[in-house]
Parts: sequence; C-alpha cells; structure tokens
Amino acid sequence: MNAVDLPTPRLRQDSYGHARMPVDATAKDIQRIDRVEYGRFRNVYLYITEACQLRCGGCYMGPRLERALKMPFAQIERNLTAWRQMGGSKLTILGGEPTLHPRYEDTIRLAGQIGYENVITTSNGLDPAMRKFRRLEPHDFAYVQISVDGGTPATHDAVRGTGTFTTTLKNVAELCERGYDTRIICTVNKANEKDCLRLLDIADHLGVSLVKFHVMSVIGRGHGNAEWGMNPHEWLDFTDRLPAVAAQHDTRVWYQPTFVRRDEMPRFAAEGYRGCIGRTLDRISIFPDGKSYVCSYLFDTDLQYAHTAPDGTISLNKGPNEFDLFAGALTKPGCGGCKAPTSCMGGCPAEDIVDGRASCAEEPDIIPVCRLWKSMPAN
Ligand code: SF4
Ligand code: SF4
Repeated sequence: MNAVDLPTPRLRQDSYGHARMPVDATAKDIQRIDRVEYGRFRNVYLYITEACQLRCGGCYMGPRLERALKMPFAQIERNLTAWRQMGGSKLTILGGEPTLHPRYEDTIRLAGQIGYENVITTSNGLDPAMRKFRRLEPHDFAYVQISVDGGTPATHDAVRGTGTFTTTLKNVAELCERGYDTRIICTVNKANEKDCLRLLDIADHLGVSLVKFHVMSVIGRGHGNAEWGMNPHEWLDFTDRLPAVAAQHDTRVWYQPTFVRRDEMPRFAAEGYRGCIGRTLDRISIFPDGKSYVCSYLFDTDLQYAHTAPDGTISLNKGPNEFDLFAGALTKPGCGGCKAPTSCMGGCPAEDIVDGRASCAEEPDIIPVCRLWKSMPAN
C-alpha cells in the first residue's frame, strides 16, 4: 500500500480528561499536557448526610435515614480530592437531604475550587433547602435537581408527606426566578403514573429546564410500599406516552428506560448501549460510612466496590463485590438465552439479587436495560 492508498484517519472526539505524558521515550519535556480519553469514575455521587426531614415511600436510603450519619467536613474534603484524582469530573452532592448538612455551602464552593467541571445537587426543595440556595449563586451549580413525585398534591404528598407538593413547587419557582438551572426528577410508581406527566406543564410554566422520569425501584423504604412497584409492561406503557407529550413541551425530557421490548433494542444499541454500565466503572457513590458503590441498585447490599476511609484512602472490597457480579454476567448471564447478544451482554445481574428474578428470563418479549442508562424519548 503506498501513501495515496492510506485510509484517512478518523479522529474521535474525546471529551474527558488530561494527563501528563512524555511525548516520546527520549523527551525531556515530560510536562507536556496531552489530552487522553479515560472514563473511570467520571460521575461522583457524594452522600454527605443520611439525615432527612422526610420519609418518602420509595426512598433508596432505607434504614440509613434513621442512622442519619453525617460526613465530617474534613472527610468531605478528602473524598472530593481523592475521587477527583481518580477521574471525577461531574459531581453530584446528595443525601438524605444534603442541604441539612451544616457545611453544605462550603462543600459546594469547595467542589468548584477543587476543579469539578460540573457540580450538581439533588434536594427535596423544602424551605430549609431554600434558605441554603439563597446563600449560594446559580453559577455555583451546573444545575439543581428537585424531587417531585407526582403531578398533583394527592399523588406527590402520598409519597413525600402532606403539604410538600405546594411548598416544593413554590421553591422550584423561586429557584427558576433566581436564575438556577432547575430540573425536576420524578420517581414514577403505580399511584402517580396517571398524573406525573402533568409535571411537564408545570415545568414549562415555571421555567424548569428538564424533567427526568425513572421507575421506582423496590429498594430501601420501597420495600414497605412494594404495591407501588411497576412491572416492565406497566412501565413501558408509561414510557410509550413520553414522546408525544414531550414534543408538546419546551422543557426537555429524560428517562431511564430500565426495560425495553425486544424489537426496540436496536435503537438503544444505536445510541451506544452495550449492557451493564457498572462494568465501565463510570460512576461511584460514596456514603458517610465509606461504603462506595458503582451501582445504585445495589445500595441495600454489602457488595460495594470499595471503601473510602475518612482520610481519603480507597481500598477495594476483596470479598463478594459488585464488579465481580457485573463481569460474571458475561459468562453466566441471568437470562439463559440472549435476545440481543451484541448490546445486552448478559442483562442486569443485580435483578436476581434485588428482585429474586431476571426480567429477561421471566418475560419473553422484555430485555432489561441498565438502570443507570439515560435516554431521551424517541419521536
Ligand atoms: S427520598 Fe429524599 S427527601 Fe425523601 S426521605 Fe429520602 S432523602 Fe429524604
Ligand atoms: S443496574 Fe444492573 S446493569 Fe446497571 S450497573 Fe447495576 S447491575 Fe449493571
């Protein structure tokens, strides 16, 4: 092959990270900064407190809410530094209710100083949270995410407590007026699925930039409200309604597909879906007791990937752990016979542990989609 036959190289855009690398083995200037792609632990979720004034019916925190551990500020600082050094660029500060932490504002400002490109927070949006947001600025955050679990007071308050719908939306309105990029996150259950698309009208009216829907997982406090859980077909009937409704609104819509019908799998494959995101170590969630998980669906278990000590030391869990579970599904899939071998790649191995069953094995037309995968409704 001569030079003219050589194929044109295709350079791939990479959006993550810089590393200090020598140009070649003899280079003296080893300080040259080259852009390299790496994707480990880009998403860091720091649970700075387990305390919360609410007891929402589907809260993933479960008994941690009663334990109410708070991460000391020195430990927050070490965690932020350590996980930034491990690759973190998008940071979410959450809890419990993170704004109840006495050093909440210091945590947010410190995260920006340490260099996280995107600092996000999730909150219940009640009045104590609002007092903290008034002391911060919109530019302190990439966006603020407020939980609203229904399109009416009846369904939201049934999950989150009497009077919370009105208070939360009043505060969402104030956040939007103050210039915060404000988003709503809604956990969909059997009781609110009929009215929660109303949130898109509310979001348009208030100036909310995005509404995210995800199906309630029966973990944490959800165990006490298992009747709210939706089966794959009920959830797919809900997500089928999203494209038409989303098209009528300015507010953007995201959702976590969680399940897909067999004939719809090519769409997710085209979006880049390649099975369990846990295998990529794309994210890490760190609790005040140091347990650090890749997969949020496994929060009820002791399968955490690592332990982060108060001094920031990270040690891998050498016992049974989630990474072995993720990788094990490649050789021993939960489904038995794969319906989408090039994109599903073994299904969701957590389903068996958390739900005691694999949706793919149970439902002939259903394929699980990693619960961490987000998508936009296709028109
Ligand atoms: S879901 Fe959020 S607001 Fe509700 S109890 Fe749990 S931490 Fe508190
Ligand atoms: S939800 Fe399932 S597929 Fe996704 S990371 Fe967890 S174990 Fe993997």
